[in-house]
Amino acid sequence: MRWPVVGRERQETMQKIQSNLPSHRDLAQLGVTIIDAQNVWLRCMSCGEAFMPTPDSEGHLRAGYWKCPNGCNAHMRRSDLH
Ligand SMILES: [Zn+2]
Repeated sequence: MRWPVVGRERQETMQKIQSNLPSHRDLAQLGVTIIDAQNVWLRCMSCGEAFMPTPDSEGHLRAGYWKCPNGCNAHMRRSDLH
């Protein structure tokens, strides 16, 4: 057995999230950059905080998932993003 079941489920969830992620350029407009697309790690471009958005049970990103835990980019909006 190469992967535990949990790992495979996590991988499928990650793939779902990755397909829902906006482009690097769109994320940059929100003040974040992707540092690890595989695990969907984001980094705040203001304070450098790295954070991992928590998906819901369906594997969808929550509204405002791109917001820095420190609130740096909380004021940013994009009408075509969540
Ligand atoms: Zn920040």
